[in-house]
Amino acid sequence: MERAHSLAHDATTESREIDPPPWAKIQLRASALRWARLSAVDHRRSVFRQSVAGQYARQLDWALQGPHRIYDCFDREKASVLAEHRTGHARFNGYLHRIGQSESDLCACGVERETVQHFLFQCTQWNEQRRVLIDAVGSNYGSLPYMLGGKPESVDGTNEQNRRAWKHDIKVIKAVVAFAVETKRLMYERH
Ligand SMILES: [Zn+2]
Repeated sequence: MERAHSLAHDATTESREIDPPPWAKIQLRASALRWARLSAVDHRRSVFRQSVAGQYARQLDWALQGPHRIYDCFDREKASVLAEHRTGHARFNGYLHRIGQSESDLCACGVERETVQHFLFQCTQWNEQRRVLIDAVGSNYGSLPYMLGGKPESVDGTNEQNRRAWKHDIKVIKAVVAFAVETKRLMYERH
């Protein structure tokens, strides 16, 4: 970049040769291509950040950072239930519809789109199983990042000290996975 810059500077200085030598053209072209590639990546990132998936990812930022040892606490099947919830790729109709595997994105209860949030917090089909979940999670029930192993919104993530002091609660995450297993909603394919 530095070289491209100085060549560009030289080329625009009066009394210099306007046409750079062939080797310089190759250098400039390589720099230009590199720059274009980088800005394309930046563009894609910013589009992603503004998208629904991006919002979801941001919301779960904390859940996805670091604590991968969480998965060691589960057998394969339960670990994959947890991973699907964390990535938003659990096989609920909202997701299945998006990838063309379900005609409707509605939940079987008919109230709204079937998402991780709807499943965990709203769907009346699972009221009974949810009682145990609410008890286990306590006051942070309703915070999706927290329930999936991330930081609850009440902890200020911009404060380095708070961030370090905070630790996920494996009991809570286990309760979420147990809830999902108990409903059998995501199990049909694995049996
Ligand atoms: Zn529902």
